[in-house]
Amino acid sequence: MSKLHAIVIGGGMVGAACADALALNGVRVTVLEPEPIGGGATAAGMGHLVVMDDSPAQLALTARSLELWEALARDLPAQADYRACGTLWVASDNEELEAVEPKRQAYLAAGRGATLLDAAELARAEPNLRPGLAGALRVPGDSVVYAPVVAQFLLERAGATVRRGAVTELIEGGVRLASGESLHVDLVVVANGIGAVGLLPGLPLRQRKGHLLITERGVASLHPVQVNHQLVELGYLKSAHGGDEDSVAFNVQPRPTGQLLIGSSRQFGRPDREIDWPLLRRMLRRAAEFLPALAQTSALRVWTGQRCASPDHLPLIGPHPDLDGVFLATGHEGLGITTALGTAEVLAAQLFGGFSELLAHDFTPARFGRMPEAVHA
Ligand SMILES: Cc1cc2nc3c(=O)[nH]c(=O)nc-3n(C[C@H](O)[C@H](O)[C@H](O)COP(=O)(O)OP(=O)(O)OC[C@H]3O[C@@H](n4cnc5c(N)ncnc54)[C@H](O)[C@@H]3O)c2cc1C
Repeated sequence: MSKLHAIVIGGGMVGAACADALALNGVRVTVLEPEPIGGGATAAGMGHLVVMDDSPAQLALTARSLELWEALARDLPAQADYRACGTLWVASDNEELEAVEPKRQAYLAAGRGATLLDAAELARAEPNLRPGLAGALRVPGDSVVYAPVVAQFLLERAGATVRRGAVTELIEGGVRLASGESLHVDLVVVANGIGAVGLLPGLPLRQRKGHLLITERGVASLHPVQVNHQLVELGYLKSAHGGDEDSVAFNVQPRPTGQLLIGSSRQFGRPDREIDWPLLRRMLRRAAEFLPALAQTSALRVWTGQRCASPDHLPLIGPHPDLDGVFLATGHEGLGITTALGTAEVLAAQLFGGFSELLAHDFTPARFGRMPEAVHA
């Protein structure tokens, strides 16, 4: 019997993970990508692999994805920079520290480690944080990774054929490329991040811009700030999923080079790539409030990227409600590196009937109802 043939639209972290899962199930995969592999939001992101508990579905997806990352890590090339440095959710005051207990319980219930650190323990774990912080929740299993390398690795492992080219239309049983060529396959996976809206304008997705800054490389004396964990303020949760207004939060990652990657900002309605200098200054001031010595470091580079946000902050994974043979894997907002592997597991379970505990949650695009513009060209 000849193998099923799938097209995956988009060679970012999500498309690569889906391609890998399809190939593991015996599918022949062609990935269509006009840009460098992993060059979209995947390259713009921070690569923090983090368990988040905004909703039961999000907790299940992130916790399961972390398990899958731990298994994958054994095979990753060194250049993927995978490190299980853990996360410290930093509490500014006692009120924040006391309020973190449900989060700790949720993590434990999901099978992840989570311990409370008091002020003295936090100061020992991260001596460069400012004095006076109340403590932290330490999540030891969280990790960091350089995702573009992982995307490339997964596509190679999948034996996927990667074709340079943008998809301009979904057609009956396939896709049309910008070149005018049509490709016909058994199934199509739309995994092109925010580009999915160009193909399926009815999707309930919008861009959420973010800024990142990386400090310069150099000898230790140029880096007065040593950081051991991914550091995130507990207020980040409010900022990440709060309202539509611009927001910043303290979020710092130690890189294996000794550099620090500093985030994070969130803005709706800013589809451009420009640096918003006032917002960047706000973001850095916030970071320096937690790590005062940051004021003595220099930036090597600043960039922006677009998260692809759905109304309920959960990705759209599964069959398009109206288009036969079209599956979606998009809308991962600020968690697409973390949840790419769980996404691929959900997709494979939907397609091939394998078991995934994640099927207990509804990630399907159909949860948003019918999408009126969805017609095959
Ligand atoms: C500032 C910032 C920080 C972040 N930090 C984190 C983090 O710490 N942890 C985390 O888990 N996530 C993080 N994210 C989110 C994460 O980066 C994304 O969720 C993830 O990269 C999405 O991957 P993707 O493959 O869906 O999209 P992308 O990486 O954008 O890949 C989509 C690909 O599709 C291609 N494409 C687009 N249109 C077409 C078309 N018509 N035909 C063919 N190809 C097409 C694009 O060129 C692109 O390469 C962050 C994002 C930002 C912006």
